[in-house]
Amino acid sequence: MLILKKIEAVENHLKQLKKRNLKIGFVPTMGALHAGHISLIESSRQQCEVNVCSIFVNPTQFNDKNDFDNYPTTLDKDIEMLNDVGCDVLFLPSVKEMYPEGFVNKNKVDFGFLAKTLEGEHRPGHFDGMAQIVEKLLRIVKPDKLFMGQKDYQQQLIVSKLIKKLKLKTVLVISPTLREKDGLAMSSRNVRLNPEARKLAVEISRTLKGVKAAIHHPKSNIQQVQEWGGKRLSGFKGIETEYFEIRNADTLEPVDLKSKKLVALVAAKIGGVRLIDNMVLN
Ligand code: AMP
Repeated sequence: MLILKKIEAVENHLKQLKKRNLKIGFVPTMGALHAGHISLIESSRQQCEVNVCSIFVNPTQFNDKNDFDNYPTTLDKDIEMLNDVGCDVLFLPSVKEMYPEGFVNKNKVDFGFLAKTLEGEHRPGHFDGMAQIVEKLLRIVKPDKLFMGQKDYQQQLIVSKLIKKLKLKTVLVISPTLREKDGLAMSSRNVRLNPEARKLAVEISRTLKGVKAAIHHPKSNIQQVQEWGGKRLSGFKGIETEYFEIRNADTLEPVDLKSKKLVALVAAKIGGVRLIDNMVLN
């Protein structure tokens, strides 16, 4: 695997490969890789000839400095995992490389309600920072396909809108959330859970599964099911629920009669670690 730290080096290398008509697949990450990330690289390998992964802990998408400072880094292990899965290029830029002095984000795309609700409400500025770095990375790598996870449900909707609004040629491919045996969604942040918090964290996916089962009951009422989910989770001492919502799966608008596809989304803090998860309900 080629490890490149400079934008120009990535651009030059990929230009040569594109001339040979090879399809480029791209998986952007913040490192501390786990099997969920690796499943994205595997999808890329199945669908593209050249697989590029980036590791960059993007400071502009963290609204909480403490969260940024404590974000796990396991670079040696990450490189080993990427080599094992057959990744071709790792782009590993510094903050200075991505944000040179005086850098301004010129075309701020307006995502409307999609970026204001849920994570947008609880992590102000998060999606502007995320969209800024994804756009920058897409303009460098110019992938044929971009692979992202359903784990970050709102993020993938926003990136899909970003690609449409900027009229980029990249196709977005979404992969299902990989989970631990007990159901906990894999996340880089899970390593920060102490044993007690790790035990409690399983209640997030249990509640989502409970909601999915309840919504299929012929007499179910969406509002009541949502309330049940929120109350169930908040009922555990040690779980601080930020939101538990059932929304229109395409727009994230509150559910109305037109909503055909529903998604339950949750954010909760356990032992000081903020976790998110979601489940499509139909
Ligand atoms: P991150 O490093 O957390 O920014 O995630 C990089 C990519 O991996 C994003 O597209 C995530 O949605 C995806 N991802 C994170 N966790 C999982 C998971 N458990 N299963 C599948 N994809 C995931």
